Amino acid sequence: MTAARALVLEKKMELSLREIDLPLDVGPGKVKIAVHTVGVCGSDVHYYTHGKIGPFVVEKPMVLGHEAAGTVTEVGAGVTHLKVGDRVCMEPGVPDPNSRASQLGLYNVDPAVTFWATPPDHGCLTPHVVHPAQYTFRLPDNVSFAEGAMVEPFAVGLQAASKAHIQPGDLGVVIGAGPIGTMVALAALAGGCAQVIVADLMQEKLDIAARYSGIVPVNIREEPLVDAVNRISEGWGADVVFEASGAPKAFETLMQLPRPGGRCVLVGMPVDPVPFDVSAAAVREISFATVFRYAHQYPRAIAMFASGKVDLKPLITETFGFEQSIAAFERAAEGRPADVKLQIRME
Ligand SMILES: [Zn+2]
Repeated sequence: MTAARALVLEKKMELSLREIDLPLDVGPGKVKIAVHTVGVCGSDVHYYTHGKIGPFVVEKPMVLGHEAAGTVTEVGAGVTHLKVGDRVCMEPGVPDPNSRASQLGLYNVDPAVTFWATPPDHGCLTPHVVHPAQYTFRLPDNVSFAEGAMVEPFAVGLQAASKAHIQPGDLGVVIGAGPIGTMVALAALAGGCAQVIVADLMQEKLDIAARYSGIVPVNIREEPLVDAVNRISEGWGADVVFEASGAPKAFETLMQLPRPGGRCVLVGMPVDPVPFDVSAAAVREISFATVFRYAHQYPRAIAMFASGKVDLKPLITETFGFEQSIAAFERAAEGRPADVKLQIRME
């Protein structure tokens, strides 16, 4: 263990920038990375404001942050695909490579997975991290550190788009224009949707999403989403529907959105169980998929940023210095509607 300065969540509503012991020895198969940029994620903020997410409870001080990019400074034995000086981003979830889930390629749902800033595991808001090389990905020269730190949330969007089995020209719907909903919409467009209707009740959020061509904003205060989908699809319904709000109310009309034989991907996580209209889903033979984080999406996200197919730079609202990271979290906890992604620069 090595003492290092870090942004530590001491307990609910209490953050400090202080030294804490972290495992920084570079073992075989691992690399050490000088962290450059870390995105502030809704889950980090939720641990700060609530002290828990579902079954994950903060019981002892925990370093926050899981959306990171940086530069390799040390390479452990047996690592061949990375070298000192490589610019990289890191996948925060590390499974047991020998587990049954990993063998099936479903490493994100491995019960033994460890994930940055998910209790009891520390996150990456500290100047150096040591990480398995296998979950560390080189960034092309034209992908910045700031974009590298956006790979993690975009990977969620790609996981959702993959589960939707999009066909070229599909009409998509995304419920919720928060950061994840916007990522899902952009991933669905990149994955072949001709148009994606994005629904929210906050006009500021819709205005930001609507800057991207192909996104059709619908303010559900002004028009019920079912009406908008019927209007745009001429009464047929959407090919793929993504629920990215986690709002129980969204489930009341969810089954009326997909076309017959359409597909629903549930991305948002309601805090409590929600009623689910089986009959309404059955008469259209709607199929459902769920998403938990992502697997195998980092290389795809990086490729899309590098090719220019997807540009997330306009979604980075503001960048704070490491010494201002408590202020960054207080700002994120305010939940300003025009804030999409706040980032922290370590240097
Ligand atoms: Zn995240």
